[in-house]
Amino acid sequence: SDIGSQKDRVVTEEEWLQKWETGNIGFHKEQGHPLFQKYLDVLLNGRSGLRVFFPLCGKAVEMKWLADMGHSVVGVEVSEQALKEFFAEHNLPYCEEPVPEISGAKKLRSASGNISLYCCSIYDLSSSIVGKFDGVWDRGSLVAVNPCDRQRYVSLMITLMEKNSSYLLVTVSYDPNKHKGPPFYVPESEIKSLFG
Ligand code: SAH
Repeated sequence: SDIGSQKDRVVTEEEWLQKWETGNIGFHKEQGHPLFQKYLDVLLNGRSGLRVFFPLCGKAVEMKWLADMGHSVVGVEVSEQALKEFFAEHNLPYCEEPVPEISGAKKLRSASGNISLYCCSIYDLSSSIVGKFDGVWDRGSLVAVNPCDRQRYVSLMITLMEKNSSYLLVTVSYDPNKHKGPPFYVPESEIKSLFG
């Protein structure tokens, strides 16, 4: 396969914001992703009270599900609209807090305290700001990152993982010459070399 056809494609932050503004969000799954249900036990591995990270979270409903199970959820998303829709659609009260370490960023935190969503670019985060995580749900995230940023994204994700953390990754397989992405095609061999 020829993944060269996608490697120079760049989707800007403004384009993502515009997708949210125009409701062009075909990626959002109102009923959640079937692979989340299928592999939830692998993610949790019998553990309770986990910290789970949602990179490029959108308004993923799985964040609500995990919080309802007693875990704490941290997400990051450039679109404030997406985060506000998340809280509104689940009738969750929240407050807005500044993030002193990141200029222009804010954190939307559920009143119950167990869902914290950062409104900024993922590349602004570090473990000194968000800590480390026991689990990661990466759906529509690695595959949404611009191909030129993939290594940077994965290197950052690795720094956010605790020793025994589990990482659930959803990718899509298709002929990259027929669709420009996102979602981008990330071959299994590349995933292995990226994560090591
Ligand atoms: N994971 C979510 C959303 C997938 S779409 C789901 O499963 O529904 C990708 C999302 O990433 C979009 O909402 C977009 O606004 C956001 N995004 C794109 N680049 C980002 C970046 N650098 N940092 C944080 N969020 C970003």
